[in-house]
Amino acid sequence: MKTLLSEKELYDGVSRIAHDITATYKDQQLTAVGVLTGSIVLLADLIRLMDLPMRVGVVQASSYRGATTSRGELLINAELMLDITGRDVLLVDDIFDTGHTLVEVVKKMKEFGPKSIRSAVLLRKEGRQEVDVLPDFVAFDIPDEFVVGYGLDYEDMYRNLPYLAALEPDDIARHKQNSTAEQLASYQQP
Ligand code: 5GP
Ligand code: MG
Repeated sequence: MKTLLSEKELYDGVSRIAHDITATYKDQQLTAVGVLTGSIVLLADLIRLMDLPMRVGVVQASSYRGATTSRGELLINAELMLDITGRDVLLVDDIFDTGHTLVEVVKKMKEFGPKSIRSAVLLRKEGRQEVDVLPDFVAFDIPDEFVVGYGLDYEDMYRNLPYLAALEPDDIARHKQNSTAEQLASYQQP
């Protein structure tokens, strides 16, 4: 895998937006809401770098790719979310690609009547945007490559890599081989 952003670079980028966010909210109380599952690593690092009184929660968004539609329908589950009515909310997500996820999650959250809502993402992919809103805080712009690590997955793997890597065709072939081998091994267990 090709490293796109090292641990140090990630730390510096996250510190930079943490500083900007802290300045934006000054001493206001913030409600940070991470979008599961991709934001967990960013959320953990970001909240420890923001010098603000804050509440922290999560919201679940998952996309299901139907057989007939190319873009999957997004399911948003706000049951896990803490109360955001009348609060200053910062939505935290891993990556802004087409932008549809962020737009849909913001729309859903507005139903709960927050006082304000802004968004922060680790990554924005260049040349992919299909919506006309932008995240308020972006740590890095990256080229249009499929990336994993620092919370981002490929088939639920690689989220724990401490760096960000681009997944290349060779990596995908190796991943497929390994998961097939694992499945075979588990079938052979008594
Ligand atoms: P959007 O709705 O902005 O097109 O897509 C956002 C979601 O797609 C992200 O939250 C993430 O789950 C997934 N995604 C988009 N690009 C990538 C990528 O390069 N790597 C990974 N692992 N997920 C991505
Ligand atoms: Mg995601």
